[in-house]
Formats: sequence, C-alpha cells, structure tokens
Amino acid sequence: MNPDNLRIQNSRIRVLNDKLVRKGEYILYWMQQSQRTEYNHALEYAVELANHFDLPLYVLFVLVADYPEANLRHYTFMLEGLLDVQQSLLRRGIAMSVKIGDRDRILREAEKRAAAVVCDMGYLRHQRLWRKILGQNSGCRVICVESDAVVPVETASPKMEYGAYTLRPKINRLLEAYLREVPETPVKKELSIRKIQGIDPKNPEKVLDAFSAQNIDRSVPSVSRLFPGGTTHAKHRVEEFIKNRAAGYAENSNQPQTDDVSHIGPYLHFGQISPLYLALKMRGEGTLTGEVKQRFLEQIIVRRELSINFVYYNPDYDHFGCLPGWAAQTLTSHLGDKRDYVYTRGQLEAAETHDPYWNASLKEMKHTGYMHNYMRMYWAKKVIEWSKSPEDAFKTLLYLNNKYFLDGRDPNSYAGVAWAFGLHDRPWKERPIFGMVRYMAATGLERKCDIRAYVEKVEAGIPVSD
Ligand SMILES: Cc1cc2nc3c(=O)[nH]c(=O)nc-3n(C[C@H](O)[C@H](O)[C@H](O)COP(=O)(O)OP(=O)(O)OC[C@H]3O[C@@H](n4cnc5c(N)ncnc54)[C@H](O)[C@@H]3O)c2cc1C
Repeated sequence: MNPDNLRIQNSRIRVLNDKLVRKGEYILYWMQQSQRTEYNHALEYAVELANHFDLPLYVLFVLVADYPEANLRHYTFMLEGLLDVQQSLLRRGIAMSVKIGDRDRILREAEKRAAAVVCDMGYLRHQRLWRKILGQNSGCRVICVESDAVVPVETASPKMEYGAYTLRPKINRLLEAYLREVPETPVKKELSIRKIQGIDPKNPEKVLDAFSAQNIDRSVPSVSRLFPGGTTHAKHRVEEFIKNRAAGYAENSNQPQTDDVSHIGPYLHFGQISPLYLALKMRGEGTLTGEVKQRFLEQIIVRRELSINFVYYNPDYDHFGCLPGWAAQTLTSHLGDKRDYVYTRGQLEAAETHDPYWNASLKEMKHTGYMHNYMRMYWAKKVIEWSKSPEDAFKTLLYLNNKYFLDGRDPNSYAGVAWAFGLHDRPWKERPIFGMVRYMAATGLERKCDIRAYVEKVEAGIPVSD
C-alpha cells in the first residue's frame, strides 16, 4: 500500500522491514509511547490501513513488570491512563487489550494473526531497539508512525544540534506544515472484544490487581491524588492552567513559589497528551498574550524537541561521556578542587544537606513527583558542587530524577541533567569545581525569587510523618 494515499504525512512514517501486508485477521497497533487516542498519528494511520484492507483494528498494549527504572509511582499513573485509552477506543468501536508479561512473546503471538503491524515512535535506546526487533521478527509489514514530536525528529534536523539557537530556526521553518489537526477516521469494521483478552472495561481493577501481583518495584509510592493519570485529567489540567495561571507563565518562569506552570510534563512523558494538541490549543487561545503563547510554545516545541534531538543522535545520552568536549574538559580539570561539602547519595536522597532550599526541592520531588523547572536547575547544579566528581554527580542526578519524577526517564530527563553540566549551554566565567560550566548560588535564589515562600509551600504539602 502506498502511504501517500493516507492522510498522515510521509515524514512521520518509517517502514521497519521489507515484508508485505499479508492476509490476516486484523491490523495490529502496538501502542507503547503514544498512550492516547487523540492526536495520535499512529492510531489514525492504523485505522486508515485497517479500513483500506477492510479489516478490523486491534490495539495491544503490553505491560512489563521490569520496564527500565519504572516503579509503582510510574505504573499507577500509566495504568490510569490506559483505562482512559481503552474506554475511548471502545467508543470508537476499536478493541484494545492490555496484556501482562513478556513483551516479545506477546507481540509475536498477536503479530501471527495480523496483516500488518503499526507502532508509534519512542526516542530512547531501549524503545528503538524494541521496534527494531519487532521489524526483524515479524512476518508482515511493520510501520512506525511518529506522533510525539510536533516536527518529526529527523525532519527537524539530521544531526545533533548545539543548542536551542541552532534547532529553533530549523523547526520554525517547518512548523506551519506540522501544526495541523489530526482528524479521527471512523473504523469500518469492528473486532469483537470477546475475541481478545486483557482489561475488562467493566472491571478494570482486576487487571490492576493482576499487575500489582507482579514483582514490580514498590519503593516509590503513587502520587495519584496530585497527578491522576490519563488524557481526561491532562485536558482538565490544561484548561485550568489556561484559565487561572497561564497569564503569569512568562513572568514567573523563575518563580518556583508560584504554580504558574502547566504541570503537563508527566502527561507528555506517557504520551497521554499530544504536544501538537497543546501547541494548537495554546496558539488558538484568545485570552493569552503573544508573549505567553510564544514562551509556552518555545518550551513545548523547541526545548522539548531539542531533548528529543539529543537522545536520538547521542547514543551516550545517559552517561557523562555525552557532554560537549569543552564541558567535560573544564569539569575534569577541576576534579582536584576543594569541596566544602561532599554528600553521599544516601544523604542527598534523605534531603540531609545544609541547604534548606535544596532539601525542600528534594522533598517536593519525592512527595509530589514534580519540581518547578527553576528548582530543577538549582537542584542539579548543587549536586555537582557537593559530589566527589562530576561523573558521580551525573549518575546520582539521573538516579534521583528517574526514580522520583513522574516525568522522569524522558528525553527531557537526560537533556535536563546534561544541561546542568554544560550541554546546550555556553562557557561562562571560570570558577572552582564548575570550571566554565554555569553555576547557581543560593544567594541568587534569594535575590531572584521568594525562595522562603517556596520552602513553606513544600513543607505545607508534606505528610506529617516525614
Ligand atoms: C536538571 C533537570 C532535570 C529535568 N528533568 C526532567 C524530566 O525528568 N522530565 C521532563 O519532562 N523534564 C525535565 N526537565 C525539564 C523541565 O524542567 C520540565 O519539563 C518542566 O519543569 C516540567 O514541568 P511543567 O510541565 O509544569 O513545565 P511547563 O513550564 O509548563 O512547560 C510545558 C512543557 O514544556 C516542556 N519544557 C518546559 N521546560 C523545558 C525544558 N527546560 N527543557 C525541555 N522541555 C521543557 C516540557 O515538556 C513541559 O512539560 C528537567 C530540567 C532540568 C534542568
């Protein structure tokens, strides 16, 4: 089938093997990254393919208990979102099952009866490997459709970019062509839900129970009360942000005592909301000033897609070796500098430092799964200052970031941590420990924002038993 006949842009589509579409019982959409039914190019492509071949569509999600660095906090959020997905697909007449177990085996089973397989796009190393394996092992055509970047990563740039200043003009040149609605196509043929197993939409708790019985990491509790998962909640959050807080977004970007940010990171990370939806929504919002819109679009498109560009083109994205040469060199040359404080990972994780601002940020992350961008910057810079070596700091930061943030384990996590070590930044004035890497001081927080109000806000939200 010629992809030109479908409404999804060619640049979003990659064919992962040279197999043909064959006779089969359904078109299979293996949902993994884009966990939503709205503004999901992979889903719409799969619907069109199914309609074209007069077949039903079957959506499959595989739950694995040992997903890299995932714990109860992440799983709970994801499962809440998947229930939302399943209900929404049912309303469109599309069957979905969520199966627990070995991903490759479950996919192989489902693929045997498929005419073709569609998958969505993930940018991290393991996500890309899984798709490669699926393409290699399948007896039918496997097509990957990219839906989690506004401008597809390879279209935006064929190489790793130096910073926002080099990616921005490339994205801006293409943006209009990609800021397009994604119309939903009705399915022509329905697959009976009885034919497949998985989450029973009338009794979703059973699947949650079955999954909970698996050997998942329970070391980090759910934050469902603060961040309930799913597209429905994500959209409410966006509406609430636009109505009550977006007006202060540009002005308060370095004011962590305010809540004038969207808190949409976790929903984006799990693909529960589309960056394209957010961009179109903010752009069309008549009540917001041009400055607010421009600032938000810069974050949601340029900054976010700079992170995607980084992990896509830098295979070392989760190691100290990913840093630009000047940054690694300057940090290493200051390895012998005297450090006034050196904390172990355990002390940091227990928020036992001399710095009440930093301790508050760690507590916020632990108890809410979230932290304001400005505090994330300060939080990371201080770990560099208080670690034995920059390599140690890099490992500790990724460990804490990915363990506690709901939006951890994201391209933004790796780019955000590496930014603290000089990635996507420029050299600054030479100073101890940091060399020419940008430094942040507690006195800067005191001067620029109401940091005491931030500490009070965090303390007020922490359970008494802590
Ligand atoms: C050390 C460090 C670690 C970070 N770890 C993560 C992480 O684990 N996961 C994560 O998603 N982001 C991370 N970030 C980037 C940023 O801090 C968060 O995306 C943002 O704070 C999420 O909150 P929000 O959704 O309320 O942001 P908003 O300000 O409302 O922005 C909306 C969206 O725009 C994007 N965005 C905003 N700021 C940035 C930025 N600086 N870089 C890239 N994209 C951005 C995000 O997708 C964000 O959800 C990190 C930044 C630093 C400095």
